Amino acid sequence: MFRIDLLPAEYGDAIWIEYGERRRIHRLLIDCGTAAVYPRIRERILALPEGQRHFELLLVTHVDLDHIGGALALLRESASLGVSFGEIWFNGYMHLSPGGVVPAATDDDTLGPLQGEELSDLIVANGRQRWNALLQGGALVVPDAGPLPLFTLPGGMRLTLLSPRQEQLDALRPVWDAACRKAGIVPGVAADDDGRRLEEVDAEQESDDLLGDPDPEQLAARPYKADRARPNGSSIALLAEYGGRRALLTGDAFAEVLLASLARLPGNAGDRCAVDACKLSHHGSRGNTSSELVRALQCRNWLVSSNGKQFRHPDGEAIARVLRDGGGDVRLHFNYRSEFNEMWSSTALQRRYRYAASYPASDAAGVRLDLSRRRAR
Ligand SMILES: [Zn+2]
Repeated sequence: MFRIDLLPAEYGDAIWIEYGERRRIHRLLIDCGTAAVYPRIRERILALPEGQRHFELLLVTHVDLDHIGGALALLRESASLGVSFGEIWFNGYMHLSPGGVVPAATDDDTLGPLQGEELSDLIVANGRQRWNALLQGGALVVPDAGPLPLFTLPGGMRLTLLSPRQEQLDALRPVWDAACRKAGIVPGVAADDDGRRLEEVDAEQESDDLLGDPDPEQLAARPYKADRARPNGSSIALLAEYGGRRALLTGDAFAEVLLASLARLPGNAGDRCAVDACKLSHHGSRGNTSSELVRALQCRNWLVSSNGKQFRHPDGEAIARVLRDGGGDVRLHFNYRSEFNEMWSSTALQRRYRYAASYPASDAAGVRLDLSRRRAR
């Protein structure tokens, strides 16, 4: 079994993955959406029998409210929920400098420059020794040369690291304080204008005139402008492999970084890289899905996590690039139906571009992709 649930995470990500054999199911959780998303995650955890509330890995991809908010809430009450984590992956302040590791128990003040940056404190409270444990407490960072880092979780899930590189961690270091404030992980400090320095705001938030079906050719042909938001660039992105199936879990990573790493995968010279599923980076933002990236992949299932609030994701350009450059026979899986994605339900468009679009029955349902099923291919 290899099953990916994109939980309804508002404009963020909360990805619940199960893998293994029927008798022994393993879980991992990638991001937890905003704080408002947490009750859904909590409910799901409580539905697991006591004694089975274990995740092989909790991955917090990067410092942004829509990925971290629910993780804070989860880590705060993990003990009372009876939840345990084999590993917790997150690049904290000390990881932004080359060679930085989780400090020893005696050396607490080196956690970060911020008094009480809460996520790092909570990870330590959940077990310092679990923090980036497969890296002996070191950073999750793609080296400039040599093989990509590869990790195997209990039960045989293989994770290859695709992002970030040191360059993206270097870029985040000077704005770490601002990023933490914006993500709400400094208690008592309200989000302030520092957020602007993070270049988060999409300057060209032009609204499309959506009378009738969108025109994928015209949308895909619009100039591509790469995302430059530093927290996004620092996203941890992975290729997850289990039972012969592969999924790209991209966080909000930069397309260029993903592309460079894909080219370094073993046996991937020149051809499209075959994966069974790809979660569009940064909720389907136009700055994170280039035609070049889509053309580098042979992928049937494209997942989009966003209700469209805040940044009006997904952008038409990103979806159009998937339809035009994805090689046909593509399936779009949205975890909400919104005014920003429902135009892709047009049957005329689906016929013309040979794709299928699926939407959840309600805002509370999310989307499930079972990669172990035959038709997922
Ligand atoms: Zn995000």
